[in-house]
Amino acid sequence: MTGPSVRDRLDRPLRDLRISVTDRCNFRCTYCMPREIYGADHVFLPRSALLSFDEIARVAGIAVALGVSKIRLTGGEPLMRKELEGLVGLLAGLRTLQGGPVDLAMTTNGALLARKAQALADAGLNRVTVSLDALDDALFRRMSDSDFTPRAVLDGIAAAARAGLGPVKVNMVVRKGMNDHQILPMVRHFRGSGHILRFIEFMDVGQTNGWRMDEVMTGAQIRDLIDAEYPLTSVAPHEPGEVATRWAYADGAGEIGLITSVSQPFCGNCTRMRLSPEGRLFTCLFADHGHDLRALLRTGADDEALRARMGGVWVTRTDRYSELRGQVHRDHKVEMSYIGG
Ligand code: SAM
Ligand code: SF4
Ligand code: SF4
Repeated sequence: MTGPSVRDRLDRPLRDLRISVTDRCNFRCTYCMPREIYGADHVFLPRSALLSFDEIARVAGIAVALGVSKIRLTGGEPLMRKELEGLVGLLAGLRTLQGGPVDLAMTTNGALLARKAQALADAGLNRVTVSLDALDDALFRRMSDSDFTPRAVLDGIAAAARAGLGPVKVNMVVRKGMNDHQILPMVRHFRGSGHILRFIEFMDVGQTNGWRMDEVMTGAQIRDLIDAEYPLTSVAPHEPGEVATRWAYADGAGEIGLITSVSQPFCGNCTRMRLSPEGRLFTCLFADHGHDLRALLRTGADDEALRARMGGVWVTRTDRYSELRGQVHRDHKVEMSYIGG
């Protein structure tokens, strides 16, 4: 079915779908899955609770019929889901309302990417974003609370670029007092590499990461720090709704992005819907509840019923949490490791 994209109460079209394929992860980043909470006795979703690849592809197909043109796989760690390339293959065949291919991307911690990149590219994945918070070995291990090394992630980035999954975006969450001294080493490492380094303000997602405003280094502060050593010039956005503001090195060594969700919220352009691993739709990263689709999927609902449910969730959406930060209180915000950023 074709037609214009559905719009929410604030007139924002539905354009993006983020699919969290698992709540599991091989890292325990202290700001996302602190081990005190996600330790040995944490209960993850059982296999039977997760949407199957066919169920995910069905939901994605309906989302595309409602206007989605970009799909991003995330998690937890998406590469913890076995044979993820099977899902990529199902999604790669989707066509947007305009008739073109869907833009298919993935966000990963990169630890397993070196061995998976080629299979994912062969299955139809277009691009990857890789998270990397530090180049320093000890700090990387401390922040990810894992035995993986930054080398493994850098190898994953290189493999992704070789497989044609570029330009690779590299996401660094900056936590003041923790890894801000890694900003310039990261800049020096990635300048001129063709990969796009993006800095993310530390956000108050979920309930468990002990967020404090004084640990946020703002995008403006990050930009000034870099600009003092490597002058930057502003670059116009590629398209409306882009979350990162773009800056180019004046000497032509490429560009960086700043994701200023805390200091300069971008809810007015937020066109993203999120699907949780067990089939709940969320209309905001800071939502306190999702809308169950799995029951519909598993009780034989036809596409029209699913479409009505998903479209209905979007058209009643009013979320703009980041613009209202400090004015609203949420008791049960969804966790980042469940919904995937
Ligand atoms: N495991 C994958 C990864 O780390 O790339 C995908 C899921 S992870 C939840 C998605 C992104 O959210 C990562 O780039 C991560 O650094 C970011 N993230 C997690 N918690 C965050 C927080 N409190 N503030 C800002 N970004 C956060
Ligand atoms: Fe895992 Fe990604 Fe969360 Fe780190 S940020 S714990 S890699 S899901
Ligand atoms: Fe979108 Fe919610 Fe983030 Fe605002 S706070 S940009 S509505 S996900």
